[in-house]
Amino acid sequence: MRNAKLNGSTADTGDVTGLAHVSVSGEVDLSHGIILYLEDVSVSFDGFKALNGLSLSVDSDELRCIIGPNGAGKTTMMDVITGKTKPDTGRIFLGQTIDLQRLDEPGIAGAGIGRKFQKPTVFERHTVWENLDLAMHEDKRWFHTLRSKLTSAALARIRETLALVRLQKEAYRQAGELSHGQKQLLEIGMLLMQEPRLLLLDEPAAGMSDNETAQLVELLNHLRGKCSMMVVEHDMDFVAALSGAEGKVTVLAEGTVIAEGTLDHVKRDQRVIDSYLGR
Ligand code: ADP
Ligand code: MG
Repeated sequence: MRNAKLNGSTADTGDVTGLAHVSVSGEVDLSHGIILYLEDVSVSFDGFKALNGLSLSVDSDELRCIIGPNGAGKTTMMDVITGKTKPDTGRIFLGQTIDLQRLDEPGIAGAGIGRKFQKPTVFERHTVWENLDLAMHEDKRWFHTLRSKLTSAALARIRETLALVRLQKEAYRQAGELSHGQKQLLEIGMLLMQEPRLLLLDEPAAGMSDNETAQLVELLNHLRGKCSMMVVEHDMDFVAALSGAEGKVTVLAEGTVIAEGTLDHVKRDQRVIDSYLGR
């Protein structure tokens, strides 16, 4: 609910809908090597199908890049995974057993899905350090530990995250003073404080300088294997840097998957050329 709070809303969606509030405890069942599974997911807005029979799966520890033209449904896909939008049909699972449609937004976040929106959302009037601290306090697991343990472990985690997102020197500056790219990195740091199992990043390099983009590539490559990631991005150099020669890229258009494979493979696909690259 972090983003809702930032927008000044205190509404809690937990009970009205009758969905489980937070209650996925324990590990995600990765016995089939799959962290995220979408089957035949459709969403309509006033009769327009933003998602149209979308099926895809992401392997555990995979970094999947998603590309596709504007309006393809990439953001809507993230909305249905995180519970922001309810699909009309389809199934969405985290691991083998967690049916995400049975959880509300905080429940889905609690199950281990962190989401980075297109616009950076940080607490502008707090320092970088405080932003990371606040993000950690949203994670109830920290309150189950003894206070003494919490303090040293928490400090260590904040320091570690500051280093990861290259903001050590900015630790005591107000987040509002950071560059756009630094805010993007800070927000990723805030998500990391909650140790997500799956990180969804919607156009994270948008508005970043070349230098910041390079830092982001380095960070995401560093996170590879520590959590699974789904990255929506338009910048093809960025996608190339993340997917490498072997990584899988999924191409969406008109709410469905039109191609999937290595970047080289999808770039040669005629439908991809027609609907996206050739434009
Ligand atoms: P992408 O992120 O790939 O650019 P989106 O998922 O944002 O695409 O949008 C897919 C389509 O669904 C677009 O045509 C968009 O206008 C429409 N859409 C998305 N959200 C809504 C909404 N809340 N209400 C109406 N139409 C929407
Ligand atoms: Mg989008």
